[in-house]
Amino acid sequence: MSMEEKTIQKLDPIDESKYSMETHLIYGKNISQKWDYSHHVVAPISSSVIFRLDSVERGAEGFQEFANTDPAEEDLQPIYIYDRLGEPNKDMLEENLMFIEKGEMAVSFATGMGAIAGVLGVLTKTGDEIISHKTLYGCTFSLLNNWYPRYNIKNIQIDLTIPEEILNHVTENTKVIYFESPSNPNLDIIDIEAIRKIVDKINLNRVEQTKIYIVVDNTFATPYCQRPIEFGADFVVHSLTKGIGGFGTDMGGAVIGKKSYRDLLKVFRKDFGAVLGTKAAWTVLTYGLPTLHLRVSRQMNNAIRIAKYLESHPKIESVNYPGLPSHKNYEIAKKQMVDFNGNFAPGSLVFFVLKGKDFEERKENGRKMMNFAAKNAYSLTLAVSLGHTRTLIEHPASMTHSMIPLDKLIEADINPGGIRLAAGIENCDDIILDIEKCLEII
Ligand SMILES: *Cc1c(COP(=O)(O)O)cnc(C)c1O
Repeated sequence: MSMEEKTIQKLDPIDESKYSMETHLIYGKNISQKWDYSHHVVAPISSSVIFRLDSVERGAEGFQEFANTDPAEEDLQPIYIYDRLGEPNKDMLEENLMFIEKGEMAVSFATGMGAIAGVLGVLTKTGDEIISHKTLYGCTFSLLNNWYPRYNIKNIQIDLTIPEEILNHVTENTKVIYFESPSNPNLDIIDIEAIRKIVDKINLNRVEQTKIYIVVDNTFATPYCQRPIEFGADFVVHSLTKGIGGFGTDMGGAVIGKKSYRDLLKVFRKDFGAVLGTKAAWTVLTYGLPTLHLRVSRQMNNAIRIAKYLESHPKIESVNYPGLPSHKNYEIAKKQMVDFNGNFAPGSLVFFVLKGKDFEERKENGRKMMNFAAKNAYSLTLAVSLGHTRTLIEHPASMTHSMIPLDKLIEADINPGGIRLAAGIENCDDIILDIEKCLEII
C-alpha cells in the first residue's frame, strides 16, 4: 500500500449529507483528498507557494488537469503546482462555500471585489450589457461605471425592486442582471424568484451563449440568512471579508454557482491574479464558517432589538430593517431570508434616518452623531465594513458617499440623514445604551 492510500483510507466514509448545516461547517467533508485529515484535526495552513513534482510527466499532467476538470475524476487528489493555480486551503474552503450556498462549485478570490470582477469577467465581453440595481456597493458602482465603459461594457442601473422594469431595458446584448439583496447601504430587498421568472422568459428565445445570468451579491445576508441559488440566482458573490470571515482579520471573496463556469473562473483568477492567500483561506475555513451560525444569529437578534428601539425613538425619522413589518418589502424578505432551519432571518444590518428640518440638517446631524460616537461610545465603532464581532456604524453621506452631491445622493436613494449600523455580538443592552447617549446630543 502506498503512503497516499494509507492516509486516505484510515477514515471510513461517512455520509455527511445526513448531518445539519451547522455540523457540516465544522467538519467539512469527512474525507477530503485535499489534505490528510486522519492526523490533523485542524487543517494546517499551507505556506508553500510551490509543490514538488515527482516527474516531468506529473508536472505535465498537473498543467493538463488545471481548469480542465474531468467530471469523472473530480474527487481525485489534485496535482498542485503553484499557489496561483490552486492549493489545499483554498480547495477545502471552496468545498464548504459551495455546500453552504447550495451551489455546484465555488471559486475563492483575494477580495469581494476580486470575486465580482471575476464573475462579471467570465460572463461578459466587449459589446455586452449589464442591468444592475440602482443602489450598489461603492466599489461595484465604480467598477461598472468607471471601468467597464472603457471595455465597451455598458451598465444600466434601474430599480430592481420592480422586477418588470427589466423588460423596459433588456436588449439582445444584455448578459447579466446584477444586484445585492439586501442592498448597500439602504437595505432594499429584491425578489430573486420574480427576477428569475422574467429572465427565464427572455432566455426562452436565446441560445446558450446569449443567455442572461443572474448574479446576486449575498454579502449582507450571509448564507446563514439567505441562499439566493435556492431562489433562482445563477451565481452568488461574497465578500468573505465581512460576515463569513467574521472577525475582521482577513480579506477574501468567492463566486459560487454553476459548475460549467468553474474552470473559466479559475483561469480568470490565474491570469488576473486576485488569488486568496492561504492564511486568509485557512482563517475563514477554521474560524469563520464553523462559527457563522452562532455569530450571525446573535448579530441578528441584536439587530432586531436595535431596529425596534430605533423605530420608537422620537429623533428617528425612519428605520429600514427587513425584519420590521414597516419595511416596504417585508413580505419578500420573509419569503427569501430564512436560516438553515427555515426561520425568518432578516440579517444584521439596520439603516436608520435621523430627523432634521431639511436634507442639510439631516446630514449635519449624522456627522455630529458619528463624531460623538467615535469619542464617547464603547460598544459602537465608527468604521466601514460589517459582520464583525463589534457593532460598526457609518454615515454614508459624510463618509463612504461624501463625494456625491446631495441631489445625486437622493437620486440614488441614499438619505443624507441615513446611518448604517452593522450589529456585532455584544450584549445588546450596552449597544442600546450607547446609541441612546449618541442620540441625546442631536
Ligand atoms: C465589502 C463589500 C464588497 C467588497 O468586498 P471586499 O472584500 O472589500 O473587496 C462587495 N459587496 C458588498 C455588499 C460589500 O459589503
